[in-house]
Amino acid sequence: MARQAKATDRKLAVFPAFHKVEGKRVVVVGGGDEAAAKVRLLAETLADIVVVAPQAEDVLRDAVARAGGAIVAEAFDPAQLKGAVLVFAASGEEAEDTSVVAAARALGIPANAVDRPEICDFYVGALVNRAPVAVAITSTGVGPVLARHIRARIEAMLPRETGDLARLAESFRETVVRVISSGVERRRFWARFFSGPVAAQLQAGRPDAARNEAQRLLNTRNQEAGFVWLVGAGPGAEDLLTLRAQRLLQEADVIVHDALVPEAVVAMGRRDAERISVGKRKGRHSVSQDEINAILVREASHGRRVVRLKAGDPLVFGRAGEEIAALRAAGIAHDVVPGVTAALAAAAGTRIPLTLRGVASDLVFATGHDRDGETLPSWGTMALQGATVAVYMGRTVASRVADRLLGAGLSPATPVAVVENAAQRNERFFAGTLADLPALQGRHEIDGPTLIIIGEAVGHGDLANSQPLRVAPAERAVVAA
Ligand code: SAH
Repeated sequence: MARQAKATDRKLAVFPAFHKVEGKRVVVVGGGDEAAAKVRLLAETLADIVVVAPQAEDVLRDAVARAGGAIVAEAFDPAQLKGAVLVFAASGEEAEDTSVVAAARALGIPANAVDRPEICDFYVGALVNRAPVAVAITSTGVGPVLARHIRARIEAMLPRETGDLARLAESFRETVVRVISSGVERRRFWARFFSGPVAAQLQAGRPDAARNEAQRLLNTRNQEAGFVWLVGAGPGAEDLLTLRAQRLLQEADVIVHDALVPEAVVAMGRRDAERISVGKRKGRHSVSQDEINAILVREASHGRRVVRLKAGDPLVFGRAGEEIAALRAAGIAHDVVPGVTAALAAAAGTRIPLTLRGVASDLVFATGHDRDGETLPSWGTMALQGATVAVYMGRTVASRVADRLLGAGLSPATPVAVVENAAQRNERFFAGTLADLPALQGRHEIDGPTLIIIGEAVGHGDLANSQPLRVAPAERAVVAA
């Protein structure tokens, strides 16, 4: 039976606090690995590191040298702790650690003993350093593995430039207080500062442009300009979203998305963001491209931050070109965030090397459907020369695609793979040859988004778990059931 949660389960046995150490003496007692680990952690700070070790091992010497600390090559003596603000007992010997802790306490200095929680005054968390921003994680009682695991996730969430952003904010703080008198307006300013183009410029490694953006934000805060990000949502698995896409989803006021973007990805947006579905699916154009363009321009003109979320990559068969042209014409600032395009997800699922030395050195992203409903004029010759061809929107025109390629002289035995719902939970693989490809068109039970990969390189994939592309009519009923 599950244990009942007690009221105290939600309370911490420790209080997280950040101890000032700049220019202050921090003493580590010990000569081996544990001491070296503590020195490396302390080296993330401006502490004045002193190590007490009659015999320091090489790892420790190395860590101290890198940290710019000092080694006192003597046996431990309480006098060495004088003036310290923190003490670490890391000798690896219980008796020694205990006496170091006792000596520290006698001097009123908080002490930590490595791997001896029962005698520690304080614990050290796993650290994410984005100075001056710091995140420390503790998992008291569970051990360090969980804390490290969580740290890795937080590391991934916090861009490297978080610290730069904090410093830039610091340099604007006084001016902001002077210029913006209303508290509400100030909060609004900072929300924009930390999430919009200022942060984006820093991430792009352009600190001067970031400063200009910040200045512009301050000058124009009453007539704030909106912004549109064309964001690639990837093939549908939430964890194939880029970190940047995830961050922008959290910051957007409005999310404009296609039907192909799964609900779970759209749900990753800020809870109170407005969501506008412009569900474009073959044969069901609920909102025209002109209307979508108009929505983007309208929302951004109202000063809102818009994420236009598109399946895969926005610049691959995503009609982003038309949206960008509309934004440009309306003078609206915009940016593009790439995503994992369907061809790459389909190749990953089937382990097809899209390019392969000696087999395929060109890769074509083609469409079965283009604006005039015409199929493949130019890439037939590339396929003949050994290119791998990834065909988007090809299922309903599969037989025309196959006819054209065969007509161009491509061998009917050329391997073909078809991936439905690539990178999603209901992903399915089908394998066959160019001669089998027309059969795809009649298989109405394959109704998710499908990507067709054609070329000799397909034969080097891992298609053992695929279903046959062509099935006899009797068999088909069974497959569909
Ligand atoms: N911008 C998208 C493509 C949009 S066109 C991208 O970069 O992936 C729509 C076509 O993309 C679909 O008809 C299908 O051919 C392909 N597609 C999109 N998502 C897919 C997926 N998860 N699995 C297989 N094909 C997909």
